[in-house]
Amino acid sequence: MGVCVSWSRKQSARFEWHISAVGVGPSCFSFARRKGDLMEVTLLGTGDTTGTPTVACKCETCRTARDPPEALRRRLRDQGATMTAAGGVERTRFSVHVHNDRTDESLLVDFSPDFRHQFLREEVPLPDAGIVTHVHFDHLDGLGNCYRLLDDLAVYAADETDPETGESVAGTVASDYAYLDQVTVHPQTPLEPFEVCGFEVTLVPVVHPPLLCYGLAVEDPETGAKLSVSGDTAYDIPRESCEVLADPDLFLADAIVPADLCEYHPLGGAHHDSEGVPRTFGTKHMTREGALSLADDLNARETRLVHAAHFYPAEEAFDRDSLPPCSHTYPVTGAETGDNFGSGRK
Ligand SMILES: [Zn+2]
Ligand SMILES: [Zn+2]
Ligand SMILES: [Zn+2]
Repeated sequence: MGVCVSWSRKQSARFEWHISAVGVGPSCFSFARRKGDLMEVTLLGTGDTTGTPTVACKCETCRTARDPPEALRRRLRDQGATMTAAGGVERTRFSVHVHNDRTDESLLVDFSPDFRHQFLREEVPLPDAGIVTHVHFDHLDGLGNCYRLLDDLAVYAADETDPETGESVAGTVASDYAYLDQVTVHPQTPLEPFEVCGFEVTLVPVVHPPLLCYGLAVEDPETGAKLSVSGDTAYDIPRESCEVLADPDLFLADAIVPADLCEYHPLGGAHHDSEGVPRTFGTKHMTREGALSLADDLNARETRLVHAAHFYPAEEAFDRDSLPPCSHTYPVTGAETGDNFGSGRK
């Protein structure tokens, strides 16, 4: 089991040095609940595998996250960002909480290593079910937190055997957590919808070499509200996956770094657009530009960039609209209601 970002320690240091020259940034967000909103999406964690601030990192973004200038701190507070006890902000490891107001059930997409902190901070209900997109540390290793918190947790994951691991995501979850009686794994076939927490959920193959990884669509069959999640992925996801993810009310897109940072990745960038801008960083994550491009391809009504690294320059890292700092809750309603999401503070 590995992490999502693959450059070597030496390369990482070089990368970090370059980035710190321009600054870098974090995040943590939270969006509002509004009467009548039936699908409530809380971004519990919007960071990459090291989070922001990154432990021991002294880059400008991490320093700014730990101790924002007063004007930024005030703006973030006014915008509803969750502040740390020390007055900073943070971007914890990826996890999304989806509450169904109609059934009063909660679905958790990925189990962040920051699970405990996220649930204490946001006070969202514990999950009734969970989904694991892939077996990287930052998406799976929080699952053990259900011990003594939950009597029973249904965990859904893909059933395709990964040649890299010799087992499916569902198989790895089942074997890693065989010691926890609370966890029941339900293997699912990608591209085939299944029902959980009153939602219709479909796992879709994405591109995150060398491991198999899945994005997903979560739809409320009663209201038509639709959330799509890219999962950790490069830009060129399969056409059938795009068809399932298309036309979401809210799209959460992996946007690990701005495209101009591909210069510092040992493998550079890939999937360049007509202007020559790389939409993939290395081989397994989208650049910010790639994420926005995919959002466009999918005709997303609203998009939030997630899985962001501290390599974002400090002046760009704390933009609530596109790059929500930490936890925000978004009420999502079907587009046909004419309603919107993202207003108000929880
Ligand atoms: Zn990841
Ligand atoms: Zn990953
Ligand atoms: Zn840093």
